Amino acid sequence: MSAKEFPMSWQSPIAPGISWYQETVAERPEYPALDGSRQTSVAIIGGGFTGLQAAYHLAKSGVSVTLIEGCRIGDGASGRNGGQLGTGQRSYPDEIEEELGFERSKALFDLAENAKKYLFDFADEHGIDMDYLPGQLNVSHKASYEREYRQSVEAIVTRYGYPHMSFMDGKETAERAGSKRFFCGTRDTGTGHIHPLKLLIGLAKAAKDAGAGIFEMTPAKSIRQTAGKTLIETPTGTISADRVLIATNAYIENLEPVTAAHVMPIHSFIGATVPLDRFPEVIPGSEALADSRFVVRYWRKTRDGRLLFGGREAYTADAPRDISSHIRRQIAEIYPQLRDIEITHAWGGCVGITMPRKPFAREVMPGVMSIGGYSGHGVMLSNYCGKLYADSITGKTGELDLLKDLKVPPFPGGAKFRSPLLFLALTWFALRDKF
Ligand SMILES: Cc1cc2nc3c(=O)[nH]c(=O)nc-3n(C[C@H](O)[C@H](O)[C@H](O)COP(=O)(O)OP(=O)(O)OC[C@H]3O[C@@H](n4cnc5c(N)ncnc54)[C@H](O)[C@@H]3O)c2cc1C
Repeated sequence: MSAKEFPMSWQSPIAPGISWYQETVAERPEYPALDGSRQTSVAIIGGGFTGLQAAYHLAKSGVSVTLIEGCRIGDGASGRNGGQLGTGQRSYPDEIEEELGFERSKALFDLAENAKKYLFDFADEHGIDMDYLPGQLNVSHKASYEREYRQSVEAIVTRYGYPHMSFMDGKETAERAGSKRFFCGTRDTGTGHIHPLKLLIGLAKAAKDAGAGIFEMTPAKSIRQTAGKTLIETPTGTISADRVLIATNAYIENLEPVTAAHVMPIHSFIGATVPLDRFPEVIPGSEALADSRFVVRYWRKTRDGRLLFGGREAYTADAPRDISSHIRRQIAEIYPQLRDIEITHAWGGCVGITMPRKPFAREVMPGVMSIGGYSGHGVMLSNYCGKLYADSITGKTGELDLLKDLKVPPFPGGAKFRSPLLFLALTWFALRDKF
């Protein structure tokens, strides 16, 4: 299909549903497919935040860079996620500290703070309005978690030097969430939520303007090495590169076995409601929320007052036939008054998770780095990791080493059994969420 033929209501071939994001961007620019073989200094596979940030910074530093995206920019997780930035890594820093000690845990926390600042600075510099709204609440669905929540807030504020977080008791949680469903929570005023596709479109444009070659509808079919070069086969040409970044995250499939063994796709689904003008009590402060379930639910209000509610992770390869009805049922558990609310858009995507829910950054072949597996915490981290990869090539910082040093084992079960095993394990955790 030539780039000119993309319809307005483009359906991602790798994820179900047309997102509210897609229908609220002024324009979704099109990039050509690769047309013939080429040589490049760095080849990047995957046009999400990770790949495009790397492409932008490499091109800006004068490195020749070619990025190929198998579908369209925005069809992967970066254009379809919950938009929540969060703070720190996926786990609270005091939990990471138990495993890695204070110094490394603090370094990882600081890396995430650098990532957050970087994202805001990048958007400012490029005039990208990403619909930012401040505030994030983590709310507990179990009374027994109160002590952990208090301890984590105490640690973050006093020992990690982050003054923006506070503990919320049941009353404050109910007022801010607009629901009595939760027992307590934490409030973070130093972060917030965004319209991710607006950021991604602005980022792709910045990378192109900086001189990166960007090609859509160009899937990498294989990666092989010969005579000091890495060759990437695509249906429309071979790319010969000195270095390669694999930035396919959850969508790796069979392209490269080491990444595939470490990063597992998990389906997650989001529904967008009509604006909640009649329900001003629902998140009156327009923060983003996430609950304490292992199978996490996450939701937020958009600038125009819609509820974007995500959850119903399905641990099988199949998408549910009716995403809206599952999402509506979950919304009603928290906001019974919204049980009949109209859901205007429903869509899904794949989150790339790792066994320990820490990012995966590893050289998988000589000169071939693979970065991903942010485990549902990648909006902020993936942007920064792309930049850090470029920095590692241009010799600017060694911050990426912090992530390369993390212990991330492969999923057990090999290619054949890892999905069924994960399904069993996660179903067990999902059951535990209920009690
Ligand atoms: C529904 C959902 C909700 C989420 N919510 C949040 C959230 O609220 N907060 C948060 O921090 N994180 C969230 N995430 C995770 C976050 O979106 C990701 O961590 C992040 O976008 C990863 O970016 P990436 O560039 O590494 O991967 P992606 O954005 O997934 O990009 C990978 C790209 O690689 C392409 N690709 C794959 N194989 C090939 C190939 N062989 N050849 C060429 N191209 C290929 C794919 O088409 C895809 O576009 C969510 C994810 C999903 C799916």
